[in-house]
Amino acid sequence: MALNKFMHPRNLYKSKKPNFQELALKYPDFRKFVFPDVTGKLFLDFKHPDSLRQLSVTLLEEDFGLKLELPLDRLVPTVPLRLNYIHWLEDVLTASKADKGIKGIDIGTGSSCIYPLLSCRIHKDWTFLATEVDDKNFMYTQRNIENNGMKERITVKRANAVDGTVLCDILKDNPDKFDFCMCNPPFFADHVEAEAVAKSRSYSRADPKSVCTASFTESIVEGGEVNFVKKIIKDSMELGTKIRIYSSMIGKKSSLPPLKEELRRLKIPKFTTTEFCQGKTMRWGLAWTFDHNVNFPKSLFQESKKERPPLVYQVPRCPNDLDYDVTNICARLQTLLAGLKIQYDVTLNQKSLVRMTLVAKENTWSNQRRKRRQQKQQKVTAQMEHSTGAENIDKIAKCEPFDDLQTFQVNSPCEEYHNCDAKEKQGTISCDVTKNMQQNLVFKNICEVAKENGEKQFSSGETTNPKLNAENLSKELEDNKESVVNLAQPQCTTNVIKDEGVNCTPDQSKTKDNKKRKLSDSDIKSEIIDKTLESPAKRKIITSESGVIVHPEINVKCEQVTSSTTDAGSTSLGKKSTEEMANGYSELFGDSVEEKIFLKCLLKIKLSTPHVVIEMTWIEGENKESMHQVLQYIKNKMSVTPVTECQ
Ligand code: SAH
Repeated sequence: MALNKFMHPRNLYKSKKPNFQELALKYPDFRKFVFPDVTGKLFLDFKHPDSLRQLSVTLLEEDFGLKLELPLDRLVPTVPLRLNYIHWLEDVLTASKADKGIKGIDIGTGSSCIYPLLSCRIHKDWTFLATEVDDKNFMYTQRNIENNGMKERITVKRANAVDGTVLCDILKDNPDKFDFCMCNPPFFADHVEAEAVAKSRSYSRADPKSVCTASFTESIVEGGEVNFVKKIIKDSMELGTKIRIYSSMIGKKSSLPPLKEELRRLKIPKFTTTEFCQGKTMRWGLAWTFDHNVNFPKSLFQESKKERPPLVYQVPRCPNDLDYDVTNICARLQTLLAGLKIQYDVTLNQKSLVRMTLVAKENTWSNQRRKRRQQKQQKVTAQMEHSTGAENIDKIAKCEPFDDLQTFQVNSPCEEYHNCDAKEKQGTISCDVTKNMQQNLVFKNICEVAKENGEKQFSSGETTNPKLNAENLSKELEDNKESVVNLAQPQCTTNVIKDEGVNCTPDQSKTKDNKKRKLSDSDIKSEIIDKTLESPAKRKIITSESGVIVHPEINVKCEQVTSSTTDAGSTSLGKKSTEEMANGYSELFGDSVEEKIFLKCLLKIKLSTPHVVIEMTWIEGENKESMHQVLQYIKNKMSVTPVTECQ
């Protein structure tokens, strides 16, 4: 499930996905870790600790002006998740009327000191006390605090790993009061648990798409995270309101029930849980307080799951209507839904209850009358266009001279074909060739589509002088062939690569030379190319058989060409590895193109004797109004034509 829509609204990465292309151009260190796939899109190997570390370091510098040094053998912090935790704490503080001069504690700050550094960078008046047990982490954290000029605002203290308390010992001689404490605790009870998680998808903590670099002390603690957080809870009982808000991140959902149970057992007056959603991973937050003035706001995710009363519609019944039952009304409803192109998935099918999930990708129910009118008009126009005959189109479809343009991109060939202007009276078709060409139209493809359309449309034999029309159109296309090449070239230079024995025109090779020259002018860009050239497989990504170097960036639309020039036995970035890398990206940041759902709802058709009732419950979508509209549409249809015609 893509969770980005539940990412904290202020999380920078909710709307801004990292652009590897831009980052690679700007940061030479990052550039070393990205590789183009066959389409030229840059990827990062999320399974490689060094890549992950570099991504975090680069994002922190680019987006927060923080310069971090991280050891390879320690936990690499992922930025979107850390931000979600910080933003949630901000919300709690605001709701609890604490918004100035905030003092926080970070328990186990790691090598990065990520929470204090990020928080202090975002909030100019926050200060932190950070704790750490691991020597190496302690050293790196000190260095990171210094390198970012935060010594005045962040203090790091060494904690006792073995038998010390988590908080009490640290705060023993500290007279200050703190607004909150936070923690990303070591998660696992032992190696067995850590390894089981690494191999299993069932644990919500599992993060198999990206490597885990955490060291022993960072990831494993006796009793796992439950035990660690219980220690904080125990300390909080002693410290009371010295810290206003106690909190911890929770890595496994299964840890929440025992921890909540512990809070209840100790009669801690107020506690809450929240969700940290980013990319495809979810973590949880747990907070508690002894201060009655602290308020815990609800998370977006919880809000979305809040029960909403369903919309209910009692299907009207006509006298003598024998088909008035759940099954028949369901069948009728399904016809209506199919007509609206609303997908439905029947999850329960019983005589007195049918349950289905509806998914609409777009609004197909509004302005039905206008849409019908437009469709009618289109149909008439299409009939006029197509009345020129299938035979002609069939003939045009064989217009071989245009083969050398076969690698041009096609923008919706059907649409393009409909640009053809039918001159029915004169018995000719004249295509708006220039327009088509400007949009990189492949003539062969038009013809193919035309042929397809022709076969469909003309099977009834509605043709007018087919032979003449075909010849006219064929000639017209031939006459315009030259302008096709000239017009299309500037936009499609990378596509016009010698391929499968097709020769480039002199003009085309000139363009290739230009491209070559342009690239060698740019040091940074060519470095990416050089890197790509390192491996023979990757070389194939950016070179054609004729040896023309094509910059990956430019090559994005050349799939047809590049794939045909890649050797079968090559070791190019395979589909699987790029998929894996893309998965790693979406685990952290979400999919770059998330599937849009206009409306998703639950629909029940049930018998509520003596009536059949339709119930619709909102799940998700653009706006709740759309569910009302769909029900209104159903109501209109149901009331106009009952299941069987009323006598
Ligand atoms: N906060 C960092 C690191 C989390 S890993 C981040 O979010 O990226 C957990 C950290 O807690 C490790 O660095 C580990 O060394 C530290 N740790 C373990 N036990 C601790 C204790 N009793 N007190 C303080 N830190 C501890």
